[in-house]
Amino acid sequence: MRRFSAFAIAREAARHHSGWERHWRSPTPKKHYDAIIIGAGGHGLATAYHLGKDHGITNVAVLEKGWLGGGNTGRNTTIIRSNYLQDPSAAIYEKARSLYETLSQDLNYNVMYSPRGVIMLAQTEHEVRGYLRTAHANALQGVQTEFISPQRVKELVPIINLEGPRYPVLGGLWQARAGTARHDAVAWGYARACSDMGMDIIQKCEVTGIKRDGDKVTGVETTLGDICCNKLGIVVAGHSGVMAEKAGFRLPIESVALQALVSEPIKPCMDVVVMANTVHGYMSQSDKGEMVIGGGADGYNNYTQRGSFHHIEETVRALVETFPMISRLKMLRQWGGIVDMTGDRSPIISKTPVEGVFVNCGWGTGGFKAIPGSGYAMAELMAKGGSPLADEFSMWRFREGKFIDESVAAGVAH
Ligand SMILES: Cc1cc2nc3c(=O)[nH]c(=O)nc-3n(C[C@H](O)[C@H](O)[C@H](O)COP(=O)(O)OP(=O)(O)OC[C@H]3O[C@@H](n4cnc5c(N)ncnc54)[C@H](O)[C@@H]3O)c2cc1C
Repeated sequence: MRRFSAFAIAREAARHHSGWERHWRSPTPKKHYDAIIIGAGGHGLATAYHLGKDHGITNVAVLEKGWLGGGNTGRNTTIIRSNYLQDPSAAIYEKARSLYETLSQDLNYNVMYSPRGVIMLAQTEHEVRGYLRTAHANALQGVQTEFISPQRVKELVPIINLEGPRYPVLGGLWQARAGTARHDAVAWGYARACSDMGMDIIQKCEVTGIKRDGDKVTGVETTLGDICCNKLGIVVAGHSGVMAEKAGFRLPIESVALQALVSEPIKPCMDVVVMANTVHGYMSQSDKGEMVIGGGADGYNNYTQRGSFHHIEETVRALVETFPMISRLKMLRQWGGIVDMTGDRSPIISKTPVEGVFVNCGWGTGGFKAIPGSGYAMAELMAKGGSPLADEFSMWRFREGKFIDESVAAGVAH
């Protein structure tokens, strides 16, 4: 595939953009692949990319029932950070964040990574203690974060109201190299790179069954016919439980709708990401000027991709008290995604009871930030049978009681 460059942009500008190639092919499925990935979200595509790039496995198909990036990958609020508490989490999220730093160059595709900094506000004494503890843990893990004063918060976010009507701002956990990236571009960049390596990305191809010979996977049934494979990666976020059932095992996972909304575009007013976990709302400003606002997850299991109405009200209330100026903004759009939640709020990257079947799920409300690291670890697991970054996230940890408890950090884990 022709590389993007300043020269290519100038050339295409001169000839009315008539020479750009399609970013990925739309092939018909082959009869057999060395590896099939179900789900063309960020995690599935990143897994395929690293199978090819790091392990030389390129006879790979990524099967997607809708359009690529149309799941949670294209529905999230794009926050990237790695200030988690537990060591295995910090390791994989920091690996992902560091890969984001050079992802545009690695993929030759502008994913618009913007390390603008993320503040998690501390609005209760409990949160102050919790974030001080996280900052100390991060120092030991090599993750650069610091606990900052309310005055420093105000310097970084002039539009913030420190004296909230319910909870004053007592400080914040600040990660300066955290930030955002363009979510679709991440999916498109990986897809283009995978297609360039000869992999088949097959959209509108729903996997309806998983074929086994005894305890070993042999292939999948799809709406485009049966396809054989040696290895299968299930990377379907909110549909992980459904797909696991088809393979013949159960996952300790629940699916709920999580929602977000954006305002009309306004002039630049906030150049960092702010998360207010106690009142429950978080906000950043997109490059177009819209305020991107994240809300809460429904309190009951569902597959609606909409989210309950009362969460919009709660979210807007939380943000109006944190940033009073947004009370006069019109909201443009609201949407939801189906997130896959585990009991300890940490992901599952694991072998399964079916030989040759691997799962990558449980990223819940916060997996966009992890895409590059997750793909790296899942590919290593699929290629070699183990991965230092993934081993702690095995699904057997729930049987053994070895939880990686991020439920405090993941109160708002976006
Ligand atoms: C509103 C919202 C806000 C969020 N905000 C953030 C944030 O700020 N920061 C952050 O880090 N994370 C955030 N997240 C979480 C993040 O979006 C997800 O963790 C991440 O995108 C999951 O990626 P994925 O590739 O696993 O899943 P997805 O992108 O959902 O991809 C899974 C794909 O599998 C496909 N699929 C399902 N079943 C089948 C089948 N039978 N056959 C074929 N294909 C199938 C689906 O169509 C889908 O495209 C947010 C999520 C939501 C919903």
